[in-house]
Amino acid sequence: MITRPPPEGREALTRDVRATIRDVPDFPKPGIVFKDITPILSAPLLFTRVTDSIAVAAMALQVSHVVGIESRGFIFAAPVAQKLGVGLVPVRKPGKLPHRVVREEYALEYGTDALEMHEDALGVGARVLVVDDVLATGGTAAATRRLVERAGGVVAAFSFVVDLTFLHGRQQLAGSSIDTIVEY
Ligand code: AMP
Repeated sequence: MITRPPPEGREALTRDVRATIRDVPDFPKPGIVFKDITPILSAPLLFTRVTDSIAVAAMALQVSHVVGIESRGFIFAAPVAQKLGVGLVPVRKPGKLPHRVVREEYALEYGTDALEMHEDALGVGARVLVVDDVLATGGTAAATRRLVERAGGVVAAFSFVVDLTFLHGRQQLAGSSIDTIVEY
């Protein structure tokens, strides 16, 4: 349940999130500017405003599950699932989930990586909100959409705190609704 009144307009939230996110140059490797969301987490009211806003935007979608992407996605997905009153499903790096999984590989700049989800986590007819902190190239989110579909569900929408629009991640997610708070 959302215990606070309906949220302010997005403009004020966008301004405050943008002012709070910390740019860390050359992390995890040279040339990458890492968008560090941890200052949001240590500002309790702002953290609540962010997750309230994600949940309110998703309310009309009637989702049955929230899927969080390892690992910063979990932090935002968990309170959103509780506010919406639906289950939380983790999508994890290979080898972390104990039960039987579905697995999807995706391309990195060099090589591939993979994500896994418990094969029985959703069930046929599930309507899913996928949550992560940052949309970059979209490979992670697109692989997550394939996992959801293989597990019998559909992605009703994606929600990201940050969209690095110059990496064109939205192109990988064509056909899905996408909600973001701050765009760079
Ligand atoms: P991508 O698959 O390229 O969209 O990458 C998305 C994933 O990588 C997300 O889980 C993000 O947490 C992380 N990520 C990618 N680029 C950045 C960045 N510049 N700052 C922070 N996190 C990032």
